[in-house]
Amino acid sequence: MAQLTTKIRWHKHPIPATSAFGYADLTIGDVSNGSPRMLITAGIHGDEGPWGAWAIQKALERIDESELQGSIRIIPVTNPLAMQVDKRNAPVDQLDLNRAFAGNPTGSYTEQVAHMLVEHGLADVDYVIDLHGGGSWCVNAFVFEMDGGRDLSLSFPAPFIVKAPSRDVTLTGYAKSKGLTVAAVEMGGRSQFEAAWSDKIADGLFRALVKVGIVNPKTQPSEIDAPIPVESTSVLRPMSGGIFMPEVEASYIGKIVEKDTLLGKLIHPMTQETIEEFRAPFDKTALMLLRPFVAQLEGGAMTYVVSQPIE
Ligand SMILES: [Zn+2]
Repeated sequence: MAQLTTKIRWHKHPIPATSAFGYADLTIGDVSNGSPRMLITAGIHGDEGPWGAWAIQKALERIDESELQGSIRIIPVTNPLAMQVDKRNAPVDQLDLNRAFAGNPTGSYTEQVAHMLVEHGLADVDYVIDLHGGGSWCVNAFVFEMDGGRDLSLSFPAPFIVKAPSRDVTLTGYAKSKGLTVAAVEMGGRSQFEAAWSDKIADGLFRALVKVGIVNPKTQPSEIDAPIPVESTSVLRPMSGGIFMPEVEASYIGKIVEKDTLLGKLIHPMTQETIEEFRAPFDKTALMLLRPFVAQLEGGAMTYVVSQPIE
């Protein structure tokens, strides 16, 4: 009897990066027992990583070595230099890693990470789950459905499911274009509920591994409620800069609220006057991403992501 967490073999892949240290390592973990094979990534956006990485650990802790009937590859820190500064993109080239596929072996840092992920992350795998989720500035709660990957996405106890735009430049979009079955998860972010959300992500990973036959557990996972399908999403953004004051707190993520519900306000930093209000735009507004904390916002900043249930 041995938890899978004790069986991970770690490999470091150096990427040319910092002036002081020369390289940043992309670190990939494997626990192998033949086919089928799944890659699980977290933190491709550097500010979204901790909840997914935590969930990977929690999922592997639930699995005994004797239950493994395939292979799991994990990359808990997929974009190391972006994680270091708690930003979506790495400061060295400011490129979005999840728009950089298939990468370039002689390109800048981000392009080389994408290339390394193609060469060493996606090589030989059948399934990919890419974990995003909130950030230090927001919480979110949904899964993307990609063509052919619906069952994988339905493994997650997410409030909402939305069809993903088709983009070959994302990790999952590129992998799908190569015939792999993929899902992208958007759950987590800084709040008092982060442990509960990472438990949900871990639960989803476990179900997905069981569903595709990589794990044959002694105790089958219980049934979960299916996420609510929603229309393509809209982003609410302020028309000017200012101080953001939330009206709905982190517990509202994943909920549906009535039209015109006050979600938050933008106030003037000097006069404290209300400059703008953010209100629920639909009769049934699905709250998919929100900011639970006071924040300094630039004009045009992503403030809420909303949608409405498909009738
Ligand atoms: Zn992301």
